Amino acid sequence: DCLPQGSKRCAVIGGCGFLGRHLVEKLLDRGFSVSVFDIRQSCELPGALLSALKDVSLVFHCASPAPSSDDRLLFERVNIQGTQTVIQACLDARVQKLVLTSSASVVFEGTDVKNGKEDLPYAKKPIDYYTQTKIEQEKLVLEACNKSKGFLTVAIRPHGIFGPRDPQLVPTLVDAARRGKMKFIIGDGTNLVDFTYVENVVHGHILAAEHLRADSPICGKPYHITNDEPIRF
Ligand code: NAD
Repeated sequence: DCLPQGSKRCAVIGGCGFLGRHLVEKLLDRGFSVSVFDIRQSCELPGALLSALKDVSLVFHCASPAPSSDDRLLFERVNIQGTQTVIQACLDARVQKLVLTSSASVVFEGTDVKNGKEDLPYAKKPIDYYTQTKIEQEKLVLEACNKSKGFLTVAIRPHGIFGPRDPQLVPTLVDAARRGKMKFIIGDGTNLVDFTYVENVVHGHILAAEHLRADSPICGKPYHITNDEPIRF
């Protein structure tokens, strides 16, 4: 079990969300002290981003509006402008590492992808505006990687995430089933969809943070994250 070198103080932006809370819990388990920044004020949190990043060497950025929101301006303000603010705040606070939660949908062009690698190009026609802003967000974070400034970045791309306290995926399926709306099959029943257990997604984030060093090939790169097998849907 290797921990990132240097300070064990990190911050999780979006740390009150589904993934963010699991990440915070695992980081605390591993002996980090964690500062959380989120607009959802479920506990006493710092009100300003810069104060949340004080003395922090590692930042995880997993804040986003829900993909189901149809508020384009909100996606733009949070995923694009908000991410520019996060990068600038990291530079101002002399943060050394930024790990972004991106999304596998950034390479989804509407046709099946099986065993897709990271060399797939960004989708030219993203499936929705959320994904379009996730593409812009990922580019901003990866392009900000600058070894000479001592600021290293990496992006993790999960597809669907499931696990305890999932607010969306399983509850939505259960709700639809209860209302009798699951009595159909799309295709011939052999379609595959990729879902990753939340603790595996967390593990991927922590591994990325641990391996993010100036001499590492992962600097400025995106990584797909999945379980071993896709789930038959
Ligand atoms: P979530 O909605 O549970 O958590 C997101 C958190 O971000 C919330 O606590 C919310 O309050 C916070 N937030 C939103 N806007 C903010 C702002 N302007 N400032 C500060 N905090 C803000 O979502 P999640 O499922 O935990 O998703 C986390 C990340 O993972 C997101 O970046 C999302 O795009 C990505 N992702 C999620 C899935 C999935 O299946 N859940 C799949 C792929 C990628």
